[in-house]
Amino acid sequence: MPYVDVNRSACAGCGLCIETCPTDVLRLDKESKAFMAYPEDCQGCFVCQWDCAYEAIRVRIREREASVVSQNVESEEKL
Ligand code: SF4
Ligand code: SF4
Repeated sequence: MPYVDVNRSACAGCGLCIETCPTDVLRLDKESKAFMAYPEDCQGCFVCQWDCAYEAIRVRIREREASVVSQNVESEEKL
């Protein structure tokens, strides 16, 4: 499952990522910093990362899934 890291010191609280996230994952907390309010809905589309003018948000793919993808690629290469 993808997830999003927010650099709280860089986040300016502009709210753009909240507006542009296609699955409505993000919200601002009480300190006006973005956070994943609904992480299960994240599609890993990178829109929030691309839209943030402050480079405060990064989309990550969990290591376990990355490993599975890597193994699948290796399996396909052997075919
Ligand atoms: S777009 Fe960037 S600066 Fe704006 S709220 Fe989202 S993470 Fe923070
Ligand atoms: S990666 Fe896409 S779905 Fe996930 S929080 Fe960012 S904009 Fe929303």
